Amino acid sequence: MNILVVGGHPADMFDHCGGTLYHHIKQGDKVTCASITQGLRCHDEVIYDLFRERNRELSQEEIDSIIKERTEVKYKEVKEACALFGIEDIHFLDYDDEILCVTPQMVSKVARLIRAVQPDLVITHWPYEEDTFSNHHAVTGQLTLAGITAAHGISFEQDAPSWNVAQVAFMISDIDFRGDCFTSCGKLPYMNYYVDVTDVVDLKVKAINIIGSQKYNIPGYAKKTTETWNGVLGVRIRVPYAEGFALQWPEIGKTIPVSEHRMWLAKGDERELLEAISDTRAMDVEL
Ligand SMILES: [Zn+2]
Repeated sequence: MNILVVGGHPADMFDHCGGTLYHHIKQGDKVTCASITQGLRCHDEVIYDLFRERNRELSQEEIDSIIKERTEVKYKEVKEACALFGIEDIHFLDYDDEILCVTPQMVSKVARLIRAVQPDLVITHWPYEEDTFSNHHAVTGQLTLAGITAAHGISFEQDAPSWNVAQVAFMISDIDFRGDCFTSCGKLPYMNYYVDVTDVVDLKVKAINIIGSQKYNIPGYAKKTTETWNGVLGVRIRVPYAEGFALQWPEIGKTIPVSEHRMWLAKGDERELLEAISDTRAMDVEL
């Protein structure tokens, strides 16, 4: 299978779905990742802190040079983190994350990428995250859906032939399932697919900790965020750690699938079920 991941910010490419991608790569699937923005304004340690207070003191040349330098730092970290999962084919679309809207130019760029990669499965953000309109993840989800539609159509400008994506999986973050603002009411996703990432959660912790440019190397953070995201999702489906997805299209088969895990869920006694989620990992990973 050929998989394309489209994230809003560079680190999204692995912290939302790295465990799942690891499994796909292990079974021989091809994974390509793309980040829409540089993620500098909302995440970068230097730019976020420095520019909030001191940007009027800096010349345009100094600002450009800082942005260039910080972009390189972030991209280097992200490549290093992605490598832990075996992800090597990484694209940075380099958009500024000051104002992110769905524009024809950006949709066209995503469509071009889809035509070039020819993915069977596209993984992206829930297109209704938080307020739907200004949230970078939500806009990325919308851009990607628009790009998928455009890639399937006829383009007279793009060289590659049109391409139809078979399935879309929205990667569900902790923000998506807790509904923390009024405008997300009624738009929470229903996670209809979980991936058990217990075997790879130590790599997730290590990868998150690499992103020092986003302060993710603050002692305790990588383990805490993994517990409160993948740990919480795991508890829902009774495995220690999981990544949650909402599949865009219904799947089809000759019969109705019921996983072995769900069979076990139905029969497991309370002690067994609680024991299954009590397996805490990655706490002793050295960072
Ligand atoms: Zn993000």
